Parts: sequence; structure tokens; C-alpha cells
Amino acid sequence: MALVNVRRDVTDAFYRYKMERIQTKIEGKGNGIKTVVVNLSSVAQSLARPGSYVIKYFGFELGAQTNIDPPDDRWIINGAHEASKLQDHLDGFINKFVLCKKCKNPETDVVIKDGRIVLDCKACGQRTDVDLRLKLSGFILKNQPKKGGKKDKAERKAARKAKQQALQNGNKENGQGSGGENSENGSNGSGDKNEDEDDAGSDDEFTRKINADAQVIDAPAVVRDDDWAVDMSEKAVKARQSQLPSEFRQKLVLGGGDEDDDEGEGGGHTVYDTLGDWIQEEAAKADSINKVDDIQIYVKAKELGIETKHKTVLVLVQTLFDENILTQIPKRAAMLKQIITSERHEKALLGGLERLLAAQGKEHPELLTSDKIVKILHQLYDKDLVSEDVIKKWGSKASKKYVDLATSKKIRRAAEPFIKWLDEAEEDSDEE
Ligand SMILES: [Zn+2]
Repeated sequence: MALVNVRRDVTDAFYRYKMERIQTKIEGKGNGIKTVVVNLSSVAQSLARPGSYVIKYFGFELGAQTNIDPPDDRWIINGAHEASKLQDHLDGFINKFVLCKKCKNPETDVVIKDGRIVLDCKACGQRTDVDLRLKLSGFILKNQPKKGGKKDKAERKAARKAKQQALQNGNKENGQGSGGENSENGSNGSGDKNEDEDDAGSDDEFTRKINADAQVIDAPAVVRDDDWAVDMSEKAVKARQSQLPSEFRQKLVLGGGDEDDDEGEGGGHTVYDTLGDWIQEEAAKADSINKVDDIQIYVKAKELGIETKHKTVLVLVQTLFDENILTQIPKRAAMLKQIITSERHEKALLGGLERLLAAQGKEHPELLTSDKIVKILHQLYDKDLVSEDVIKKWGSKASKKYVDLATSKKIRRAAEPFIKWLDEAEEDSDEE
């Protein structure tokens, strides 16, 4: 698939924002002639905009009818229109509705507020206005996404978060004598910020780091609903690929096929072991696990073809965290969030945590105290790495899947105050 720079005025081949070149198919004849924009979804996704915005923009520019919500992904403009012409119009769309007006970066969110359409730039942090006189602006304002139940849950969580401080203070008063942990509370103390800002902060940081990685190429694999995208550093990837023996490359392909193999850990050296070994080697070279860069880890996982796998989470939890896990979680949250995409991933996160606690607990018994485990779960929950439902399910039943049953029970007993807090917070919010 031919790729073009999102900003076609940028001729740099290393420009990191790419999209598919528009492809069309003319169908029908005479009055019924129409243009199907074959890859409109992909293009819109690369721009992090709904497909309806793009097709409607074409419609306005061409004075033609369009469909804005095709169930079969067949995006249609009435009449015959050349792909190159549409590509030119797309430049206009990108200029007006995607690029930050300040820095021309395409990584922006559309925010609709008080009848204004604002582009919130992830690169420079500026918020700039879209011209409301444009026809598409009217369409955007009229077709705002409806507020759904999801919002309620987010609100509930925000309320819960406000109570976090209270809980933590409560724990301290219960006289656990956890003197050394105040400093960790400090790094965790974002109590004066609301949840949205907090989350945006960590994502921004990760995005900034990616932007700082100058030599990026390849299609922007737009990830899910947020417009965070990572590309592989060409130089690094090429260097590593040339080091891979061909036998190993074959193994990577095989590694992708075990999606449903839940255990799969007895079968010798897997790609997951390779990732774990690599992280540990890098940590040894850098003298500290905390100095191993998020981007490099993600790139390595991607190179191994496992950046979307739940088992990757299991590996990361056990290699990136140690007895200092409370201060390490916030730093790794943005990267982990990109990988944790399902309940299965969340379960792997908790499973990895059990293994970590069991292993590290031998040398650092304080890790297995209720005080510590509650704080760890809090962190994971606050950073959106694990949901309320998954934690509750996890807490309700010990399992010997990741550690022996006795340890599993011990950890869950220690986690009880947190589960209880989740339950109580739910009751509170139901009353409201
Ligand atoms: Zn900007």
C-alpha cells in the first residue's frame, strides 16, 4: 500500500506521520455513477478523525452527496471523482481540521467546547480553534458523539480517586509503621490534578519521547482509539535484524500462532523469554532497569511480533519492576497502557504481579504486606492499567496459575482492603 506523508508539503522520507494514498473505484454509469473511497477508514484512522468527517468534507468540497455511516465500510461520493483530486482536497481537510495551527503537528484531538471546535495539540500543548465558518464545522458541531454510560464510569472513578488520599492516610493511622514509604506516597500524590490531566500527562510524556526519537519511518500504526502511534526506529531495527540468525526469524513467525495457548511456557525458549532476556541484558548494561528506555522496549516487543500479546505483559511486569515497583509503575504506565488492550492483558498484569511479589518477597518481605499490596493495586488502577471488574474478579478467587496456592491466597488476603474500598466506593456512588 502506497504511503504518503500526512503533510505532503514535507518531503522528508523520515517524516513519521504517514497515511495511505487515497484509493478509489468508480462504479455504475450515467446518473448512477459513484466513487467508492476504498480505503477511507484507514486514511481517517491515520488522521485520528472519524471517517464521516473526511467523506463529508469531500462532499462539501465537491458539492456531492455522500454517505456518512456506511455499515459495510463502503464510503461513497456521488459522481465520478479522481483519486488525485480527492487527495488534494484531503490536504485541505488536514490543514483545517487536523494540523495544529501553531506547530503543524497532526497529533491533535478534537475538543468541542462552548460551541467551539478546538484542536488540542499533543506535540506542543497548544489549543487552537477551527474556523467555524467552514461547512464541515457545522457538521461536526451537529454530530457530536453522544455521552454514554462510559462517562458515568469515568466520573465514578474520578470521585473514587478523590477518596484515595483518605484511604492511604487511613492505612497509615492504622499503625502499620510503614515509615519508609512516605516518599513513595509523594511521587504518587497527584491529588490536586483531576484524572484527565493526569492521564494525558503520562501519555504526553510517552508521545514526547517518541517524537524525540528522530529517525522514525514506516506507517504510523495508529493504535486503537487514541492517536498514539509508534513506529520503529529504522536504524535500530535494521541493526538488530541483521544480527538475527535466520533460524530465529522463523521462530518469530511461529511465535505469533499461539494466541490460544494459555500456558505455553514449558516449551523451551520462546519469544517471550527472548524479550525478558533482552530487557535484563539491557538493564545490566545500563546498570539499572529504570534506565532501559520505554521506546526501546516497545520496539523490541514489536520486532519480536509480540507487542499486542497478553503474555508480553506478564514478561514486562516481572522484568521492569522490582522492590521499587510503587515508584516504577507511573513511569512505565504510558507504555504498558499501549499494550494492555483487553481483560486478558489485565489478568496477565495481575498474574505477573503475583509472580513478582512471590519472587521479590523472599528478599523484601515488606512487599507482601497489605499496606504495600494495596498501594500497588491502587497505582495500577489509577493509571488505568487494570479495571475495577478485573481486580474484583481476581481478588475473589485464589489460583495456582501463576504462583503456588498458598502465596496466591496470601496476596489476595493482603489485597482485601483495596477490594473492600472498591465496593464501598461503588455503594457511595450509587447513593449519589
Ligand atoms: Zn502544536
